[in-house]
Amino acid sequence: MAKLNPLIACECRICKSTDERDQRLRTSILVQQNDTNIVVDSGPDFRQQILRTGIRKLDALLFTHSHKDHVAGMDDIRGFNFAMQKAVDIYCTPSVVDHMKKEFYYIFDDFKYPGIPEVDIHLIDKENPFSVDSILIQPIEVMHLNLKVLGFRFDKFVYITDANFISDSEKEKIKGCDTLVLNALRKETHVSHFSLDEAIKMVEELKPRKAYFTHISHQLGLHEEIEKELPSHIRLAYDGLQLEF
Ligand SMILES: [Zn+2]
Ligand SMILES: [Zn+2]
Ligand SMILES: [Zn+2]
Repeated sequence: MAKLNPLIACECRICKSTDERDQRLRTSILVQQNDTNIVVDSGPDFRQQILRTGIRKLDALLFTHSHKDHVAGMDDIRGFNFAMQKAVDIYCTPSVVDHMKKEFYYIFDDFKYPGIPEVDIHLIDKENPFSVDSILIQPIEVMHLNLKVLGFRFDKFVYITDANFISDSEKEKIKGCDTLVLNALRKETHVSHFSLDEAIKMVEELKPRKAYFTHISHQLGLHEEIEKELPSHIRLAYDGLQLEF
């Protein structure tokens, strides 16, 4: 989970921190149940993140939205094509597919150059839960300024990145969850992300037992210092964090 630090050429104390929890790659999660692996988003650090997990098969790649920090690493699913000898199942909205056709035009060409990524696209409708093997997934639509972004509910676990507004009807899909992951970019307000205070307010309203903040900018502050300011049921996510349900 998490993101953005250190920033290239930044000399701030967060980017220079030696605390591993301040050294963030772009935001993504791996959801595992039995033998099933689902990854949400493949940003520019996808290759490095996947190598770190050691997984050898990918049952589904879900996209929240088409911003570069969530899709840029998709070309590297080729490793899974080779290992599994089949296409990777990708789940996203029609607007993300339109973006993919520009970003990764060669994947959708009539002439398939040997070795390019092979994908099977499955369209998500926000009102319709879908399954990957035995894992049921409820899409949740949130707003990222004026862009529709998907969050996902896996049983009692809800993952939302890149949002600064959640409608009442979508909040109903989140209520009753045990653990909520939510974006909190920095302390100052931002045009398309929840600030730390806004994220805390959202947690107080939705009342999960536990919440983790992700998509954290170097502008937020040091992991250790910020966590001390938070109530005990809210923690900052960090790269490599594992949660069990
Ligand atoms: Zn910095
Ligand atoms: Zn975004
Ligand atoms: Zn993002």
